[in-house]
Amino acid sequence: MNFEGTPIPSMVCGTCSRPLWRTLPKDDSGALTGEIIYHHPLHIEADHEPVPQPRAEHYEDQINQVCDFCTSRSVKWRYRAPGIQIHALDHDDQPIQEQQPTDEWNACEVCAKYIQHRNSEGLLRRALPAFGPDPDEFLIAMVRGLHQAFFHALQPGRTRVTGDRT
Ligand SMILES: [Zn+2]
Ligand SMILES: [Zn+2]
Repeated sequence: MNFEGTPIPSMVCGTCSRPLWRTLPKDDSGALTGEIIYHHPLHIEADHEPVPQPRAEHYEDQINQVCDFCTSRSVKWRYRAPGIQIHALDHDDQPIQEQQPTDEWNACEVCAKYIQHRNSEGLLRRALPAFGPDPDEFLIAMVRGLHQAFFHALQPGRTRVTGDRT
């Protein structure tokens, strides 16, 4: 199964109005199974199962926006970094699934400053507490990899987000 040429639709949770991430499971041969699992972002602990609804059917200003890096609710900028893939490996380093974060990344003013300066260490230090109180090496490596992928996929330009909710 190959999704090239057919963008996977962005989904928003119908319960909490948060943009959802996607996981694409792979079969034994490492090929995508064609299944798409939508779930809350890694650093969001939700008390409910996600209810995927097409983002296009939501009013943008009703979507529950947080900074996609540090989870601050004060979103000031939106960046476009499409096509990021996170590959999860099993113990034999065989890919078992692929995760795709959202294409549109929200950032608060502080994270945006780090992004503008390509300060990946600063961004990492600010983002890590959102993933839990005591991040282990594995988690740090994962978040660092995620940010690297973000910088790699980042397209020029950014959008001012109005409507501060803090
Ligand atoms: Zn939800
Ligand atoms: Zn932030």
